Amino acid sequence: MAEKRLSHAYILAGPEGPARDEAARHLAASLLCGQADPPCGRCRDCRKVFSGVHPDVTVVEREKGDKGPKQEIVVGQIRRITADAVLAPNEAARKVYIIAQADRMNQQAQNALLKVLEDPPGHACFILCAVSVDALLPTVRSRCVRAAEDLGRQEGAPVLSEFARSYLEAASSGDASEVLMFCMNRMKFTREETEGFAGEVKDAVCAMLCGRLEDPGLGRERLFHLDGLMEEVLDCLRHNVQPKQIFGLLAVETLR
Ligand SMILES: [Zn+2]
Repeated sequence: MAEKRLSHAYILAGPEGPARDEAARHLAASLLCGQADPPCGRCRDCRKVFSGVHPDVTVVEREKGDKGPKQEIVVGQIRRITADAVLAPNEAARKVYIIAQADRMNQQAQNALLKVLEDPPGHACFILCAVSVDALLPTVRSRCVRAAEDLGRQEGAPVLSEFARSYLEAASSGDASEVLMFCMNRMKFTREETEGFAGEVKDAVCAMLCGRLEDPGLGRERLFHLDGLMEEVLDCLRHNVQPKQIFGLLAVETLR
């Protein structure tokens, strides 16, 4: 297995569904397969992982209640796996815990997971599947690497639309008139477009902060500023502030 793949915790981001489940199994197999990366698919570990019967692979999902699955993954479920994680593997060299809907962990559950991510037993690996990395606490996120299997992404770096890219370029230029031009030209954005734009910029900023995406020259301090600013934009949208006002805010605040 390639050295770069060895981490204790991975985030696998993408829409819920069979493709993501499959990607998680593939990653689990590559962590357990003694043969190679990508997993060979033939050894005992691979075969057991792919048929869902490997004793060292645990999948955590929302518990079933009377009316279908419960809303959240709760702290008790996480405590059970963190207690299990300290025990030696049954037959493989590692133990893998797939949290199939990590974005459904409530805050208490995420904090319990964080404790083990901060000091994981040597043989334990965690795969956190989520619709988006933003659904996880930043403290949890920072302990994980993005899985190369991320759906619809390459090497874990977000794909930027032209809008997000030109905003970040304007911001890194430090030129107020360039930022102003950008914002003036986006005043007619719809709410959805504005939300998509802010989400993308936030994703890109996170990727730059952790080195998954090249920083066009913003520097850490400005990246943190933009991260906070995009958070504010998303919050404004939730409170029905109009895109026109939001781009007005960005025109003023981007270079502040
Ligand atoms: Zn194998």
